[in-house]
Amino acid sequence: MNHIIPIPAFKDNYIWAMVKVNGTGIAVIDPGDAKPVLTYLHNNQLSLNAILITHHHWDHSGGIAALSDQFKNIPVYGPASENIPGLTHPVKEGDIIALPAFALSLNVYDIPGHTLGHVAYYGSEMLFCGDTLFSCGCGRLFEGTPTQMVASLDKIKKLPLNTQIYCGHEYTLANLAFAQTVEPQNAYIAAKIAAVKSLRAQNYPTLPVTLASELQTNPFLRCTEPTVIKAVEQHTNLTLHSPIDVFTHLRAWKDQFVS
Ligand code: ZN
Ligand code: FE
Repeated sequence: MNHIIPIPAFKDNYIWAMVKVNGTGIAVIDPGDAKPVLTYLHNNQLSLNAILITHHHWDHSGGIAALSDQFKNIPVYGPASENIPGLTHPVKEGDIIALPAFALSLNVYDIPGHTLGHVAYYGSEMLFCGDTLFSCGCGRLFEGTPTQMVASLDKIKKLPLNTQIYCGHEYTLANLAFAQTVEPQNAYIAAKIAAVKSLRAQNYPTLPVTLASELQTNPFLRCTEPTVIKAVEQHTNLTLHSPIDVFTHLRAWKDQFVS
């Protein structure tokens, strides 16, 4: 049995720590900063077994050097097609990462869009997806195209509905303001805003979130819903012909959105 613990970093990043019950070591996903990880390890008298990286951005990979320095010879998994100093195990779609210390294996998916080499890790109904999918939102397209991002989100949509999604940032409340602007009549979004406000008031994370919940509330996963298509058409004054068109203009709308 593993627990997944959020280690907060910077302003709104989560470094996800996989902790085996009664185990002695942990694995971390996207350690942008070594310091909070080292503090967590020290406070809990644990060592570090493995590092997994979803994409090259510094707020997800910046802690590799200091952690590898302290814990020699641990595997550092990350996208083969991105230049990330310190990777020992470059991975790509189709690869399976065995983590025997956690009785877990993780499938690697290529999910380009936010960056070109961005990967996700999926296993035991958990998805670690970095900055591709956020709760009620998605990552900005810094390197990839809308077509790539839609294909990446479609891969995630095909996972089991009870998949627990672990995202790289706590953006949920801000994302929901936009989601509600797009779909003001969506009752799932209204209910989610109440639940998320209550969690944040107590400083609890809003993650992980299930895929089932995201399919009800995340406009970027709802580009084929008539309500979303209509909202984007009204906002842009365009007639949109494909889910990629809808996604493209929805993403551009969100980029300009001030709640
Ligand atoms: Zn990023
Ligand atoms: Fe990030």
